[in-house]
Amino acid sequence: SIGGRVTLAAVSDSRAIRDSVPMIAEACGSAATPQVRNVASVAGNLLQETRCWYWRMERFDCVRKGGEGCPAREGEHRFHALFPEGPCLMVHPSNLAPALLLLDATIEVAGGDRESIPMADLQPDPTKDWRSTSVLAPGEVLTGIRFDPAPNSGFVALKQKQSFDWPMVSGYAVLDLDGDVIRSARTCAGAVAPRPRLLPAVDAALAGVSITDDAAIRKACDAATEGAAPLPGTTYKKTLLPVAIRRAVMAAANPGGDA
Ligand SMILES: Cc1cc2nc3c(=O)[nH]c(=O)nc-3n(C[C@H](O)[C@H](O)[C@H](O)COP(=O)(O)OP(=O)(O)OC[C@H]3O[C@@H](n4cnc5c(N)ncnc54)[C@H](O)[C@@H]3O)c2cc1C
Ligand code: SF4
Repeated sequence: SIGGRVTLAAVSDSRAIRDSVPMIAEACGSAATPQVRNVASVAGNLLQETRCWYWRMERFDCVRKGGEGCPAREGEHRFHALFPEGPCLMVHPSNLAPALLLLDATIEVAGGDRESIPMADLQPDPTKDWRSTSVLAPGEVLTGIRFDPAPNSGFVALKQKQSFDWPMVSGYAVLDLDGDVIRSARTCAGAVAPRPRLLPAVDAALAGVSITDDAAIRKACDAATEGAAPLPGTTYKKTLLPVAIRRAVMAAANPGGDA
C-alpha cells in the first residue's frame, strides 16, 4: 500500500514498489519533471484537474466549467480524446490512475461516512457527470491506496517531450505468464479518454500467445483502437495506441529490461 501524501519521486525510487509492481514505479517516475515529482503526491496526482488549455484559461467557457459547449471540439484539441465519452473531450491526466484500475486497487478515504472506494468507482461516469474529478464528498480526503503485487507489469508513455509534459498516449499491461506464454493479460490505455480505458479485446487476443511471437502480439495490440472515434486532431493517437500497448506488454514480460 502507499500513503496518499507520499510523493511520486518516493514511489518511483522505492525498491519494494519497483520489484513488486514495476508499472507503478515507472508511471510515477515518468510523470512531469523531477522537481514536480519531488513535491507532487499520489493523491494529488490521482485527483488533478484536466490539462485542457481551454479549461485552464479564464476567458473560455465550457460545459466542464458549468457553461455551454466545448471550444476544444472546433479548436486546438491535439492532446484530447481518441475515445470521447460525454460532452467534455478531455483525457484523464493521471499516469497513476490506469495502473491502479488494472490492479483493482482500493482507495482508502477518511472524513466521510466510508473507509474505502474501489478504484473503478473513484471517478464519476463522464457521460453523467463531466465536471467532477472524483466522487469524493466535500471534506473527504484520500489517505492511501491498497493493491496486490504484479511483478509482471509494465508502463510505457509516448511523449512529445521526454520531460515536463503529459503523455500523448500511454500503455499499461499486467501479465500472468506460463514461461513464454501469456496465460492471461490485462491492458489499459491512458491519455485517450476522460477515464482510463480498459482494453478487453486486447486481453482476449493476447491469451495463449507467446511473448516471442511478435506478429501475434502486434495483431492483438491492434485491437486497442476498437471503438475509437478520433477528433480531426487526435487521429494520430490511433497509430500510437497499439504501439504503446505492445511496448507495455513487452515491458511487463521483461520487467527491468528494455521494452
Ligand atoms: C509541467 C507538468 C507536467 C506534468 N506531467 C504529468 C504527467 O506526465 N503525468 C501525470 O500523471 N501528471 C503530470 N503532472 C501532474 C503532476 O504530476 C501532479 O500530480 C499534479 O500537478 C498534482 O500535484 P500535487 O500533488 O501538488 O496535487 P495538488 O495540486 O495539491 O492537488 C490536486 C488536487 O487534488 C486534491 N487533493 C490533493 N491531495 C488530496 C487528498 N489527500 N485528498 C483529497 N484531495 C486531495 C487537491 O485539493 C486538488 O484539487 C504534470 C504537472 C506539471 C506541472
Ligand atoms: S475538453 Fe472539456 S475542459 Fe476542455 S474545453 Fe471542452 S468541455 Fe472544457
